[in-house]
This record gives sequence, structure tokens and C-alpha cells, in this order.
Amino acid sequence: PSIGVSLFSDNPVTVDELMKQADLSMYQAKAAGKNTMRFFDPEMQQAVSTRIKLETELREALIQKAFFVHYQPQVNSRSQVTGAEALVRWQHPQRGVILPDEFIALAEETGLILQLGRQVLANVCHQLAIWNSLPDLASFTIAVNVSASQFRHPDFLHLIDEAIAINGANPHNLKLELTESMLLDNTEDTIHKMYSLQAKGVQFSLDDFGTGYSSLSYLKRLPVDQLKIDQSFVKDLGKNKSDVAIARTIVTLAHSLGLAVIAEGVETKEQHKLLLKEGCEAFQGNLFSCSVAIEEFEKFIFS
Ligand code: C2E
Ligand code: CA
Ligand code: CA
Repeated sequence: PSIGVSLFSDNPVTVDELMKQADLSMYQAKAAGKNTMRFFDPEMQQAVSTRIKLETELREALIQKAFFVHYQPQVNSRSQVTGAEALVRWQHPQRGVILPDEFIALAEETGLILQLGRQVLANVCHQLAIWNSLPDLASFTIAVNVSASQFRHPDFLHLIDEAIAINGANPHNLKLELTESMLLDNTEDTIHKMYSLQAKGVQFSLDDFGTGYSSLSYLKRLPVDQLKIDQSFVKDLGKNKSDVAIARTIVTLAHSLGLAVIAEGVETKEQHKLLLKEGCEAFQGNLFSCSVAIEEFEKFIFS
């Protein structure tokens, strides 16, 4: 059993309130692995209230289209820009700009990520269509983060097709960032979706590579184009020998499977130099530019 307990000695509370508190504590006991007991504590309630408020605001923000996309340049080994990663931001009416770490997880849990993902994709495909008409930018790619629940959704293929078609984007310039764990569960569905998209020209990059379980047989079987070395390994390059070894291993693995490789979170010249030496051919990080609004991104390219 999971037991929730609420005490009511000094504070007068209604029966309803008391039951709610005990219920909340019981769910905490379940979340803690079941077969245990939790006492109600006001912080619990605070966390739940904060979450409910954020969820309500998220729903409103989707209606108001209060999300916008920033672009972080990706460069090749000669430091020329070849495209960008799209990173979503929330323009909150009171709090200003909110970064994704604060709302993506909640958007996933509530299913709101589907609508959010659709807005981001529309934004990105619109941008790709604009670039496609400009000779200097026609080959630029945009990488978009895809959440597991988005990818698993039965409508996912339709959603991508729709965004490409409505906006007139070139699918060859769209890159979807998936994570290793997404490839491992529900393999049949994964294979079907990835090959359908690949047939249209869409590319795939494996985000945060090296942090999850890597399956070499899936890397071989699935149409992955690029591995993205996670920023946690890039961070201590130069200080930590095993991070150099990990970066080298990922580059070697990518190249022996015929895949491209990019490092993210590159902040210093030293990290850049070490990665170049290991054969890494693409880079993203604050050393080149942080994520910026589209106007600034275009300025950056032509500077
Ligand atoms: P991520 O995909 O790993 O994105 C890289 C994060 O690292 C971004 O944070 C970026 O701003 C940050 N970053 C880039 N270069 C550097 C650097 O040199 N140093 C440091 N310290 N950080 C750097 P951001 O924009 O806050 O995004 C956080 C996460 O939110 C992303 O991690 C991604 O998982 C998720 N996310 C962002 N946009 C979307 C989206 O449209 N859809 C979904 N599903 N997730 C998104
Ligand atoms: Ca990413
Ligand atoms: Ca990443």
C-alpha cells in the first residue's frame, strides 16, 4: 500500500482540504516507489500549485503564439556557417523570456508538446523556404529538436509533411534531432518513421550522443546522418583525458559508419582545436555564437 498522511491539530481545515492533502501525500508515496508513507507538507502543495499555474500559462501561450525560435549557428571545419539549430523560447507576459529547460518537460507530460512542436516546425519550415530563395543561403540546414512523445505520436509523419508542404520548405535542409533512447523503444515504429522521412530527404542527427545507451546495430540499421557529441564531453576537453578519449571514440565511430559528426557546446579555442585534431568536422557553441534572433543570425552570416 501507499499511504498519505495529513495532520490537522492546530490549523482549522475543511474535510475536503484535508482529503486533498492526504491524497496528494499518497501520490507522493506512490511516486517514491510505493509500499511507503508520506506526510503532507505545504511545499508539496506549493510545487503542485506552481505546476498547475505553469500549465495554464503554457496553454494560454500556445493560443497566443507566445513562443519564438532562436537560431544557433553551426559551422564547418573552416568555421563557415552551414546552418543552425532552432531553439524555442517563451515570451512570457510577466516574466520575460523563459528558456526551454523550464517548460519542455511539462509540455511533454501534458501532451502540449505536440502543439508546441507544430508551432516550432512551422516557424522553421517558413524560414527554410525564405532561405531557399536566396542563393547564398539556399543550402543552409536547420536542426529541430524532437521530443520522444512527439516522435511517438501516430500523427508525427503527417505533422512533418504538413509543415514542409504548407511552408514550401526544402525537406533536404531540415534536420531532426532525436536522442539515442528514442531509437531503442518501439523499433518497428521508429524504422518506419525514419525511413519514410529519409525518403523525402529529411536528415537525422543524434542529439546528446554518448549520454544514453548506444546500440551499434541500430546505428547501422537506421538512416542516421550525424552524431552530435554531447556538450558534457566537450566541456572538460583539455582538462579531462577521458573526455578526449570519448570525443575521439565518437568521431571514429561516426566516420567508420559513414556518418557526419558535430560537437555542441564549444566555448573555447582550446576545445575547438582539440576537436579539430580528433577529426570532428562541425561545431556549434558560444565560441562561434550563442543562439540569436533570425535578424542577428543573418547579420552574423554576412559579417
Ligand atoms: P539541446 O538540444 O542539448 O540544446 C543545446 C543547449 O545548449 C541549448 O540550450 C543551447 O542554448 C545551449 N548551448 C549552446 N551552446 C552552448 C555553449 O557553448 N555553452 C553552453 N553552456 N550552452 C550552450 P537551450 O536553448 O536552453 O535548450 C535546452 C534544451 O531544450 C535543448 O537542449 C533541447 O533539448 C530542448 N529544446 C530546445 N528547443 C526545443 C524544441 O523546439 N523542441 C523540443 N522538444 N525541445 C527543445
Ligand atoms: Ca539539440
Ligand atoms: Ca544536445
